Amino acid sequence: MRKPFIAGNWKMYKTINEAIALTNGVKRELLDFDKADIVLCPPFTALSPVYELLMETEIKLGAQNLYWEKEGAFTGEVSCVMLKDAGCEFVILGHSERRKYFAETDESINKKIKSSLAIGLNPICCVGETLQEREAEKTIEVIKTQLTGCFKDLKIEDLLGTVVAYEPVWAIGTGKNATPAQAQEVHKFIRGWLTENFSSGFADNIRILYGGSVKPANIKELMKEADVDGALVGGASLEIASFTQIVKNAV
Ligand code: PEP
Repeated sequence: MRKPFIAGNWKMYKTINEAIALTNGVKRELLDFDKADIVLCPPFTALSPVYELLMETEIKLGAQNLYWEKEGAFTGEVSCVMLKDAGCEFVILGHSERRKYFAETDESINKKIKSSLAIGLNPICCVGETLQEREAEKTIEVIKTQLTGCFKDLKIEDLLGTVVAYEPVWAIGTGKNATPAQAQEVHKFIRGWLTENFSSGFADNIRILYGGSVKPANIKELMKEADVDGALVGGASLEIASFTQIVKNAV
């Protein structure tokens, strides 16, 4: 039985004070809630203050990116060591906004995944097709290429704790979510690919999240699908009420 997993991706929103207020609100609503794994992913500047608030709780901290070197002359970058030091247990890697605006490729994402795993930081690896690719019926091909590139040269023992997020690009921030059937089709493919390339035991245990305009009103239906184990939530994670309601509705 896979435990539901809900992560909030705050993107480039929230000052430190705003992050503290949001975290306190989430804590208040979900303090004794143990039916799902919950992860908050604030911007870098708010990681430490949010961690201070989460320390005594079961809610985990995640970052939204890293650079694959441990340290060095890489102005503006943040390493896995620094994220661990700030209290992170998770890191979102390969988000489509990073692929689109910051030229990330499967190859660079693979380096980031390896760097996070080497230090025991669990990656939330994002894959997803654009609208154009879906309309050209290339969804499965695109997902397969992304999975192959992102997980290149990795073994099961490296990947324990890894989470995969299927995020169709056309559904992110658009208010237009994939239907539960569309999500299930891709999630099933991902689990099958993981079975083929790693093992069925590994594939059965890994959490595959859906991301793309998840709201309190659509999470229940999505979670009814056999291979949807949770959600990566963007916009709706920025408000206490909507995020905590998604978590409650997901279980
Ligand atoms: C995301 O940023 O990962 C995301 C899914 O955003 P939204 O929920 O706003 O579509």
